[in-house]
Amino acid sequence: MKAGVVTPGKKDSARLLEMDMPVISNGQALIRLLEVGIDGTDMEINRGEYGDAPPEQDYIVLGHEAVGQVEDPGTTKLSKGDLVVPMVRRPDGCVNCRNGQLDMCIEGNYRECGIKGAHGFLREYLAEHSDFLVPVPRELRDVAVIAEPTSIATKGIEQAIEFHNRSANPIKVALVLGAGPLGLLSTALLKLRDFNTYTLDIVPRSSPKAQLIEAIGATYLDGRESAVTALPQKIGNLDLIVEATGNSTVAFQAMSALGINGILCLMGVSTGKKPLEICADCLNMQMVLGNKMVFGTVSSNRGHFEKSIQSLANIKGKWPGWLSSLITRRLSLDEFAEGLRPTPDNIKTVIELI
Ligand code: BGC
Ligand code: ZN
Repeated sequence: MKAGVVTPGKKDSARLLEMDMPVISNGQALIRLLEVGIDGTDMEINRGEYGDAPPEQDYIVLGHEAVGQVEDPGTTKLSKGDLVVPMVRRPDGCVNCRNGQLDMCIEGNYRECGIKGAHGFLREYLAEHSDFLVPVPRELRDVAVIAEPTSIATKGIEQAIEFHNRSANPIKVALVLGAGPLGLLSTALLKLRDFNTYTLDIVPRSSPKAQLIEAIGATYLDGRESAVTALPQKIGNLDLIVEATGNSTVAFQAMSALGINGILCLMGVSTGKKPLEICADCLNMQMVLGNKMVFGTVSSNRGHFEKSIQSLANIKGKWPGWLSSLITRRLSLDEFAEGLRPTPDNIKTVIELI
């Protein structure tokens, strides 16, 4: 079978590789992959900035956002033809991993398929244990490939709301920074909860991203017109901020823009080493006097995947066509390396495997 691989640490090493067909063992199902999404992490890995190959190997099969179809259920409870989304993390045996919270792994020896120490899903077939396969209804076939990034946004937003519940004032204003797939999906999840939602990026108002934001009743803010730190004067107390640009300067601006009793959720990974000059006293005082809270979030567990699949169904019902318009580029497996280069106005690239 064919697979799309890269050599971690080596820039622009994306290539196709012929691999042996996987053989299922007890508890595993054989999956025929249908679609794989490309995200910023895949691009970082192909730039040599992130990622680790599985032990004793010098390459990793890319791809951690996927949907597939059961080809052979083996001894699992799945049936041939069932649609499934594979989870990304594999546990390491720590107390959290053992209890299904592999997204909160405490020892750090977890593996992530297509990212860290385990092969990903950009290949024709996969043998996987049913513990890591999340069933998806047929009606979501066209958008199920976005379940993984939705699960990341689901976890972050769920935790932010939980943390905000420590104070009685309701969340009125939610701000999302960045209108990439994670920012757009976060916007939709916040709108599903009826928050007054603003999403900021640095694209023209006429661009597809800005239009998608407005199409679901959120407000697009052009970051070139108003600085993040000036937003509170414009839109009021920022109760909840989701940072989805991965730009660390923006993350610090968000800290000072955060409202009283506000929660800032950091979702974007930054791989560089950029220094920044800040007024540490000012920030510390604002955080303390304002009961503010900043937290980071990574990965997602089975519960987040299940909730994200439910949210995809809700988004599809409420705003038909919106989710599928996030997929702006479709390529074949042979062309996957092209999908690792950013292009203007592209939102989500999907590799079609069938
Ligand atoms: C993936 C997560 C993963 C994170 C860090 C993201 O792109 O969606 O599943 O935990 O990268 O490796
Ligand atoms: Zn662990």
